[in-house]
Amino acid sequence: MNIQKDFLSINKYSRPGRKLTAVKGLVIHWVANPNTSAKGNRNYFESLKNAAGGERWASTQYIVGLQGEILYMIPENEMAYHVGSTWYSERAKRELGSYPNATTLGIECCHTDWNGKMTDATWQNLVLLSADILRRHGLNESNLWRHYDITGKDCHRWFVKNPDEWDRFRGDVARALGREGVSMAGFTPVIAGIGSAMLLSTFFLTNGAGVV
Ligand SMILES: [Zn+2]
Repeated sequence: MNIQKDFLSINKYSRPGRKLTAVKGLVIHWVANPNTSAKGNRNYFESLKNAAGGERWASTQYIVGLQGEILYMIPENEMAYHVGSTWYSERAKRELGSYPNATTLGIECCHTDWNGKMTDATWQNLVLLSADILRRHGLNESNLWRHYDITGKDCHRWFVKNPDEWDRFRGDVARALGREGVSMAGFTPVIAGIGSAMLLSTFFLTNGAGVV
């Protein structure tokens, strides 16, 4: 696994610079644009600051690309615009509060078709990244959300169309967390730019990032 810090500029449309009030959940999204790259989507979020195509508010903290590459776009203690809506589910209001952008982190996933199918590399690193984030914030797989679960949006479409796949994903995360008797010991994620294999948690500790 490969993670690269590639922060957006602070701007009102994609990185408002506001602090999260808590981290109560992790929300999984699709980019809704098949075969586009993590970098291309990251640059799209960055371009929103220009409001060239009109005002649009959108971003997440992370994006996982087709080769499993991970771009870290917004610090984990800052808010992104990924689940804003005029309507929230009762469960979301109960567990995440009245404004879930302020209490959740988001991961965008790249995918290969309009069903939202992901490559094995994207899936695997989505599992590892999710487990690492959840662990560091004292959460577990029960704190995973589809965007759909919060606002009803068709996102991540693969997991909306295939609820069994959502169950499989959460099971994989549970195993990565060691909650089903399988530990992370077999995984040796590689952090880009550091040059040695290390766990993401170590990356965050040594970089002082991501601690809320
Ligand atoms: Zn979404």
